Amino acid sequence: MKKIVVVTGATRGIGRAIAIGLAKADYEVHGVFTASDDQAQELNGEYGIIFHRADLSDRDQALWLVEELSRLPIDGLVNNAGMWEADDFNTMDLAVWDKTLAVNLTAPLILTQQLSKTMSKGASVINIASTDGMMGAFDGISYSVSKAGLINLTKSLANHLGPRGIRVNAIAPGWIDTEMVTDAPIGMSAEMTPLGRNGTPEEVSDLVEFLLSEKSRFIHGETIVIDGGLINVDYILKKEAE
Ligand code: NAD
Repeated sequence: MKKIVVVTGATRGIGRAIAIGLAKADYEVHGVFTASDDQAQELNGEYGIIFHRADLSDRDQALWLVEELSRLPIDGLVNNAGMWEADDFNTMDLAVWDKTLAVNLTAPLILTQQLSKTMSKGASVINIASTDGMMGAFDGISYSVSKAGLINLTKSLANHLGPRGIRVNAIAPGWIDTEMVTDAPIGMSAEMTPLGRNGTPEEVSDLVEFLLSEKSRFIHGETIVIDGGLINVDYILKKEAE
């Protein structure tokens, strides 16, 4: 019997690569999407990914999704859906703060807490955080706080779900080439990264596959950085040495 995994934000970017990677690895993949009907249909036709529509900024829709998925014996949950919206410290639009926290932090809590009730022993939950959650922000305070919260939530969930045989880990990507970062100066990030480039969604997907598998069976409550080594680079020290 195929193992069942749920991936949120599965129609584009990192989530799409994760959903395709897991479908190719013979998982039964349930993707969550908001609006991209064409892409959901394409992924269903090509890879058999089953789609469920829910806007995770809306708590009622998140709870509806839980109802919809709780009939499945889930082996894996990938909380990938996320949003980044600029905020300004001086004017601080609290609507951006509320929405960002709802999608990036509250939805992973609701989905994990509720769906873990019917998860089988040996199941694995993976939260897609960010290296932004490990440092202070400039114009994305809401985003960074949400990801810092997600890293901490991962540890608490691990404490609660470990005794039930469910592992919980987070992945903290650095710069990964997707539509989310098209406005950022990503050429500069590639230059600053010791491996000389940004990451690809498929590289994050490979790590997800490892964390879902038995090969990672003693990794729990951990956040794994995937950024080509960028987090260890001090911009000033690098420029000074050139
Ligand atoms: P993306 O913008 O291409 O994809 C984000 C996905 O989240 C989309 O499928 C979107 O539909 C979904 N989503 C957004 N708001 C939603 C909502 N209200 N309800 C349901 N789904 C919603 O971005 P991406 O780069 O693929 O990002 C995927 C994850 O990786 C996010 O959590 C992001 O924070 C994280 N991340 C990305 C990078 C990067 O460099 N690309 C770096 C660190 C972390």
